[in-house]
Amino acid sequence: AMQRTTSETLYKEALEHIVGGVNSPSRSFKAVGGGAPVFMKRAEGAYFWDVDDNRYIDYLAAYGPIITGHAHPHITEAIIRAAQNGVLYGTPTELEIKLARMLKEAIPSLDKVRFVNSGTEAVMTTIRVARAFTKRNKIIKFAGCYHGHSDLVLVAAGSGPSTLGIPDSAGIPTSIAQEVITVPFNDLDSLKIALERWGDETAAVMVEPIVGNFGMVMPEPGFLEGLCRLTREAGALVIYDEVITAFRFHYGTAQTFAAFPDFAAIEPDLTALGKVIGGGLPIGAYGGKKHIMEQVAPLGPAYQAGTMAGNPASISSGIACLEVLQEQGIYERMDRLASDLADGLAASASRHGIPLTINRIRGSFSAHFCDHPVTNYDQAQDTDGELFGRFFKLMLDQGVNLAPSKYEAWFLTIAHTQEDIAATIAAADYALARL
Ligand code: PMP
Repeated sequence: AMQRTTSETLYKEALEHIVGGVNSPSRSFKAVGGGAPVFMKRAEGAYFWDVDDNRYIDYLAAYGPIITGHAHPHITEAIIRAAQNGVLYGTPTELEIKLARMLKEAIPSLDKVRFVNSGTEAVMTTIRVARAFTKRNKIIKFAGCYHGHSDLVLVAAGSGPSTLGIPDSAGIPTSIAQEVITVPFNDLDSLKIALERWGDETAAVMVEPIVGNFGMVMPEPGFLEGLCRLTREAGALVIYDEVITAFRFHYGTAQTFAAFPDFAAIEPDLTALGKVIGGGLPIGAYGGKKHIMEQVAPLGPAYQAGTMAGNPASISSGIACLEVLQEQGIYERMDRLASDLADGLAASASRHGIPLTINRIRGSFSAHFCDHPVTNYDQAQDTDGELFGRFFKLMLDQGVNLAPSKYEAWFLTIAHTQEDIAATIAAADYALARL
């Protein structure tokens, strides 16, 4: 197996100083059978190099933001220029107007936006705005959808088709979790039951319009349409969490995804954004209809602020990233590469008699060790984590970096090549043969 002794040493040292040795729990190898996570020291294009000088083809893409590949020259240049001009002003800048314009042009449901520092913050604030606007408290969300780590949404389903939430973490008051109702994704009947019971107390229904957090899961035909209709009939707002989906499948979001015509007609009231729109620097944004966004301070009574919000470094990086994504043919190329990779994985799995369900949406897909479709969280949970853990480590040892989670997507970037895909299929064939 590949030598990773320096990573192992650094992990021991990290454990002394950083809780769990990692700054986000998803980076630990807990879900893949334990061991030292790999400490990377450099990244360029589709590749990572670790502290032991091993090279990896990267499909993690930092959980989504790195769609251009690492250290893209146009983005790097923009970040250097921003650093030379001073990284933080605490005043408005012209750059913020430019990125706001770019987002509005790509996402017509945004009349007004606000920049924040993370997807978590963006989601948090859409909830506050929806509550301020509707003067109601309850939020309906879908099981397995992740909306950041705020108290407001770190809530799981109780038992039954539609239930008041139970905290998904220690330290969250039951009183807050009980303002959240969790229903299964792709299940309009459960949503209907929840709205019949709690509709007149519901401020918003929050959804990942294409799920990225228990695999990549498409809404079934009519699901989003029905969701929007039922929500509006109840006098509540529709919030799309597009933190993962924005600029991931095309130059736009799930709500403007031409491949799925019924999406266009069903615009959300509020949208949360993050990841790709910062080109790899910290960012989040939220926006929506003018009369709703005017709830936000200084115009309205809903308060939201941020020392780092709209900082010139993140905004410059985001503008540069979107400029790269405007180049012709980029998404089609990622689509083709992902299609070849998914086909190769499927063929190899079937050759070795391993059940594998692949959910691909253009340049991203999830690969689940199971013999059934994955259209909701229960089905995603009912996949083989132990098998995935062994697959993950066999891939890592051959220089392929995936997310250490059976739910997480594989993200192609514009830096990946046909040779990378071929090498990855060969690695997977070796790994699948040994499961
Ligand atoms: N919403 C979605 C759909 C996400 O996938 C994530 C992060 N994975 C978040 C919100 C939270 O974003 P952040 O990690 O930037 O706070």
